Amino acid sequence: MKIAVLPGDGIGPEIVEQAVLILNALGESFEMETAPVGGAGYAAHGHPLPEATLKLAQEADAILFGAVGDWKYDTLERALRPEQAILGLRKNLNLFANLRPAILYPELAGASTLKPEVVSGLDILIIRELTGDVYFGQPRGVRVCPDGPFKGQREGFDTMRYAEGEIRRIAHVAFQAAQKRDKRLTSVDKANVLETFQFWKDIVTDVHREYPDVALDHMYVDNAAMQLVRAPKKFDVMVTGNLFGDILSDCAAMLTGSIGMLPSASLDANNKGLYEPSHGSAPDIAGKGVANPLATILSAAMMLRYSLNKAQQADRIEAAVKAVLAQGLRTPDIYEAGTRKVGTKEMGAAVLQALL
Ligand code: NAD
Repeated sequence: MKIAVLPGDGIGPEIVEQAVLILNALGESFEMETAPVGGAGYAAHGHPLPEATLKLAQEADAILFGAVGDWKYDTLERALRPEQAILGLRKNLNLFANLRPAILYPELAGASTLKPEVVSGLDILIIRELTGDVYFGQPRGVRVCPDGPFKGQREGFDTMRYAEGEIRRIAHVAFQAAQKRDKRLTSVDKANVLETFQFWKDIVTDVHREYPDVALDHMYVDNAAMQLVRAPKKFDVMVTGNLFGDILSDCAAMLTGSIGMLPSASLDANNKGLYEPSHGSAPDIAGKGVANPLATILSAAMMLRYSLNKAQQADRIEAAVKAVLAQGLRTPDIYEAGTRKVGTKEMGAAVLQALL
């Protein structure tokens, strides 16, 4: 089995290094090949998603991805900016289903900004549609405003759109995920204002007829944001579009104490996937050796479970992470008084140790 390793920028290489050390220690014969992506891709080959990197990702069974983004490339034209690499990979590999579990380890209940009784025992799964919506809809750009009170001025515009087939396939992923959990699905929309999301709601309701064992409810995104903070444990699986999912999943990340704890999987129709932490390249802490590698390590566990058919190895890694947290080791983002502050390498080494 071949794994494409794409560390990217900022803290990407530091955290991916720890996940690779752990994958190598499992006693499996994975073939791993590393390639530059994002700002590193631009620096090496003049493009954030160099052709050879895309080819490697297409040929691999799974992709382990760090993060992309670097302030020094912010002035480049949009098509050459590091962030285009991840959008390009999602689109080229048709990775339309983004799975983001938000689990609060009991040891981290105090690291969450919410009261322990509100979050302890939290275990929700957010499923975000990843290749459609306003992030990809055409037309988009800056033009002369054709109508309204600002007619004649320049305006920025994007297009929100979802095709029926796009909604159906993500709805099936969500209902099937709910079937494997507590059988409750919340579809998040803005049907009261947006045509696109009234259509979304209608299609999800229609797909529900094939999953009578799952309880479906619908929630407006503004209410969903509020409920995620007020009573997050009442959710089981949430499914939503690309834009709303982007925002809600970062909100859910904070419930778990730190975005440095949250893994993700982005899957195609055949469960080939790209696995990455939910956070970005964190340029503010890059190179300091303090980034939390656990989201990336847990992403590697998801890779073993969803794409490489090695659920037992995934269980081993997740148990090792729990053990290390129980030992009281914390990177600065999840540190509290009474625990031991460690850096990226020390945290990775402790997980490795707990694995053996
Ligand atoms: P970010 O997620 O990189 O950082 C937000 C905050 O969380 C920062 O304070 C950072 O230090 C902290 N943080 C993130 N990961 C951490 C970790 N593992 N351990 C400890 N602390 C961590 O978001 P941002 O600052 O908005 O964006 C930085 C860059 O990342 C931008 O260029 C952005 O475009 C890019 N980005 C990339 C991805 C991706 O590669 N998929 C996702 C989001 C943002």
